[in-house]
Amino acid sequence: MIRGSCHCGAVRFEYPGRPEWLNRCNCSYCRRSGALWAYAETQQITLDFEPGATIRYIWGDKTLAFHSCRTCSCTTHWENLDPSPAARMAVNCALAEPTEIAGLRIRHFDGAETWTWLD
Ligand SMILES: [Zn+2]
Repeated sequence: MIRGSCHCGAVRFEYPGRPEWLNRCNCSYCRRSGALWAYAETQQITLDFEPGATIRYIWGDKTLAFHSCRTCSCTTHWENLDPSPAARMAVNCALAEPTEIAGLRIRHFDGAETWTWLD
């Protein structure tokens, strides 16, 4: 399991097991946030925060909503706006303790242009 939290601790997540890789995407949002995304089905990830603790940001084709802590502004996860149970989401593992993500492969996705892996 990988646990992460925003800087102030108001938003916390638990990712089951260890992902095969983390994604550093270069799309216009991700490159600014510096996120290291780990993906899973929405129901597999545990989120823990009070209602209203995050700011949701929806842009582009409006398929997902990025969440950032309302208090400390860290980008914590994105929520899939597709309500189907198999829909996937992602948590920002840059918010985990470095020892929890040590050794995980980091992949680079070209979300900016080609929507292909760069490795
Ligand atoms: Zn916070």
